[in-house]
Amino acid sequence: MKKKLPEHKLIAVISLLVVPILLLGWLFVNESNKSIGFARQKLQGTSFLERFMPLYGKIASQEPITAADKFLLATLKRDFGPSLDISFEIDQVLTEINAATVNRVKAMQVSRQLMTNVANHSSLILDPDIDTYYLVDALVLRVPELLNLGSDMAANLDYQKSSNEAAQNFDRNFLKVGQFNAALKGLHQSMNAAMQGNKDGNLKFKVASENVMFQVRADDFISALDVSSKNILAPKAVEAGAIATFKGFLKNAEYFSQNTNLQLNSLLQKRLDEFVRWLYLSISISVLLTLAALSMSLTILKKLVHGLDDKIIFLAHHDPMTRLKNRAAFTAEMHKILNAAFQNNEKLALHLIDLDKFKSINDNLGHHAGDVVLKTLANRLVESSRPNDLIGRLGGDEFVILQRNVTSVRMAEAFADRIVVAMRRPVTLENQHVNISISMGVALSPSHGRKVDVLMAHADMALYAAKAAGRDQYLMFNVDLERAIKRRRALEEEVKHAAHEELFTINYQAQYNSAGTQILGFEALLRLRTRDGVEVPPSEFIPIAEQLGLITQIGTWVIGQACRVAMAWPDTISVAVNLSPMQFASGGIAQTISDALKITGLKPNRLEVEITEGLLMQNTQDVLNELNSIRALGVSIAMDDFGAGYSSLSYLWRFPFDKIKIDRSFVQAFEKNDMNAQNVLGTIVVLGHSLNMSVTVEGVETAAQAQFVHALNCDQVQGFFFSRPLPQQDLATLILKSFLQANEEKPTSESKLRLVQ
Ligand code: C2E
Ligand code: MG
Ligand code: MG
Repeated sequence: MKKKLPEHKLIAVISLLVVPILLLGWLFVNESNKSIGFARQKLQGTSFLERFMPLYGKIASQEPITAADKFLLATLKRDFGPSLDISFEIDQVLTEINAATVNRVKAMQVSRQLMTNVANHSSLILDPDIDTYYLVDALVLRVPELLNLGSDMAANLDYQKSSNEAAQNFDRNFLKVGQFNAALKGLHQSMNAAMQGNKDGNLKFKVASENVMFQVRADDFISALDVSSKNILAPKAVEAGAIATFKGFLKNAEYFSQNTNLQLNSLLQKRLDEFVRWLYLSISISVLLTLAALSMSLTILKKLVHGLDDKIIFLAHHDPMTRLKNRAAFTAEMHKILNAAFQNNEKLALHLIDLDKFKSINDNLGHHAGDVVLKTLANRLVESSRPNDLIGRLGGDEFVILQRNVTSVRMAEAFADRIVVAMRRPVTLENQHVNISISMGVALSPSHGRKVDVLMAHADMALYAAKAAGRDQYLMFNVDLERAIKRRRALEEEVKHAAHEELFTINYQAQYNSAGTQILGFEALLRLRTRDGVEVPPSEFIPIAEQLGLITQIGTWVIGQACRVAMAWPDTISVAVNLSPMQFASGGIAQTISDALKITGLKPNRLEVEITEGLLMQNTQDVLNELNSIRALGVSIAMDDFGAGYSSLSYLWRFPFDKIKIDRSFVQAFEKNDMNAQNVLGTIVVLGHSLNMSVTVEGVETAAQAQFVHALNCDQVQGFFFSRPLPQQDLATLILKSFLQANEEKPTSESKLRLVQ
């Protein structure tokens, strides 16, 4: 259930929120910048016009052009030529006014062209704002038109005329007055439109008053013109009056232009300021929005990280496969529950669970199957528990349940029973069913402990005992169990110590012919004395050595030692060594035996190994191969404790043993006059013989038993009646006795038996 860090989510969030806002901000800023650029350009245009307009007035009114005017033109070229792209037009005006005889009409034409170009280049014509648009219209088109017409009309007056010419001039001026009035009307319209469209309203009064003044002057000029026109061939004074009135009009036009231009400039400046403000505003808004988006992204990121944290916390406290609490989390929680339980008098039961033979599931079916089994087990545990019970996986195949609110011992037992039964249901894998079972140890709180570690240890002891008792069951902790387990643990230490320090010893128990007169061999029986000097029976320490995995090492030592000791005996006496199934599991037992024979020089036919049916229950080809290899060495193989297990007979067919050793329980049964047992004993002897196996009867303890087994026609006898297992140093006497016995005159079977006693 590994999950990637959600960097992609973070990037998605940032792209979703921040990027569009940044884009929007960029658009705002870009648009504002464009508007500012336009406004600046317009301002440039109007300031050019403002400076150029007086010169245009001079050109129109035929006033003499001074050096200062030419210098002004050159300055204008330097300041505005490249940016407004009007250098060429300025040069044309300069050429015209520099000409020897100034062509006034041409000069005015190029001047007007210059002004139109300025208006175009500075986007004045395209001005989207109504007021500035009409002001520009008035200034750039209407006023120069009026000035043009006016100066033409004035020129018509200004020379000595014949009556004919005067009449023609009259006609011209008559026509021009119409045009002049139309142009004037156009100017008024533009002015009114500018005032109408003026958003701020402050233009109205200023422009209106200028407009009125302009109208008055224009009216004056027209009436002066009228007066002079009516007086064809009028005295010079009348003409001069008309021209003076025109100059008044011209001055007013100039004044008007300048004033209006100023209005225009201030309007444009205002717009520019507005745009700059708008720019700052849009920058601030986009910065704010970006910050907001960033903080939103961070919040979302935090949430994601929180989600991640939750996952990490979950993983830190749970086993990812079964999703149950892990050891650390379970222990911590249990600690809390126990503390609270102490206050509330709540009783609890700790159920420690271990899956039986989980290793073999893993080994034989693979780890995937093992995982499925564990998950199924975990689910069943959850299903079988109540919601407030605490369930955990301590690791491997170990699970644990802390049962809450336990009202009686019976309740805990019933729960444990339910769990054991629930676990017996086979687990379905892809195409097979796997039988599983569990062992369980139960400890109660407070009766078996109030602390986590004490309860755990006690439940563990009970679990240990449940396993030792044959698995697939639960056991409740009790004090005796504790004692037994403590003893077991102590024994484990003793076995480890003895194996490490080679402190084991071997006793040898004689095996006689059935008459009990002759020793045919000895069985090597391992002995352990604890450091306290207590003798521990093999039935106790051999399984421990097996569980600790020490039996192969110990067994190898036994084989070597037994062979070495047997070398001191007469050739006719063999030695039997017991082998544990575990020695076969690790492989190489035949090699170990072969090595021991080689090292000690013992003839293989003097060595016998004893195995139990437990080994053959595994029935693997490997075991049979090993047995055949041992047999191939010339070593004989005996089936030990025959009849003590379940299906002993079938094993006799599986491997051709040299010998069957009938378990001592049959002889004990004989003692109890169990006729069945006696019959079975006789039958086994016959069966063994029919399979070409020699038969030994073990555990012969009394003369009566000795007599009985002798009568059965078995081949060998072994038991306390003949000899107890003895240390190596005591064997010589026994062997000697046996030799003496054999060399005596042929005694009867009975006397032999007596002699042995
Ligand atoms: P076993 O191989 O069946 O050995 C015979 C056991 O019967 C011995 O017990 C012996 O002392 C006991 N015995 C012999 N005669 C009599 C009798 O008349 N009455 C009674 N009640 N018992 C008698 P021991 O020495 O305690 O060994 C027990 C078992 O431990 C052996 O049973 C054998 O299975 C195992 N064992 C002993 N030594 C070794 C060893 O070196 N390796 C392995 N793997 N197992 C060993
Ligand atoms: Mg034996
Ligand atoms: Mg035996």
